Amino acid sequence: MDISSIMNETGAVLKGHFQLTSGRHSDTYLEKFRLLERPEIVEEVGKQMAKAVKGIDVDVVLGAAVGGILISSSTANAFGKKGIFAERVDGELKLRRGFKLAPGEQVLVVEDIVTTGGSVRELLDIVEAFGADPAAVVCLTDRTTDGIDFGCPTKALIRFPAVSWDPEACPLCVQNEPLTSRGRTGK
Ligand SMILES: [Zn+2]
Repeated sequence: MDISSIMNETGAVLKGHFQLTSGRHSDTYLEKFRLLERPEIVEEVGKQMAKAVKGIDVDVVLGAAVGGILISSSTANAFGKKGIFAERVDGELKLRRGFKLAPGEQVLVVEDIVTTGGSVRELLDIVEAFGADPAAVVCLTDRTTDGIDFGCPTKALIRFPAVSWDPEACPLCVQNEPLTSRGRTGK
């Protein structure tokens, strides 16, 4: 299954005038839940993520709620390992529900869409705080313009660089296109 065509077919690619979590404006927004609401696609994403880091030892898979709950589970299933997730408490990603990592454990960090890499860095901080080791990072979609590098093997199933502008330089603002907030702060 080709993730790019699935994204287009499921209507995950929205066109308009969006304010991203970073504060920048864009004409495209990816609604990942058009993919993640389909269990057969979640399963396929898990398989492809596991394949992307084939040969790397993984003891546990860690994602960030909400998308990461689904992806971490399906990827962990592909490895036959445990899948856990961090969730935001007062704006900060934390392990709750009795989830923990053991020192020396090889942790695969998974993320759905990377735009700034902030959540992945927070997940890597959690791994470090437990004395575990980041085995690799795999994301479903890399939306950065420069590519991603988190200091450990890093893979993306697809690259979909976001065209974005500072609000002051946004051509859609000039055209008075109505602005929609998307992302973590405005859903
Ligand atoms: Zn704008």
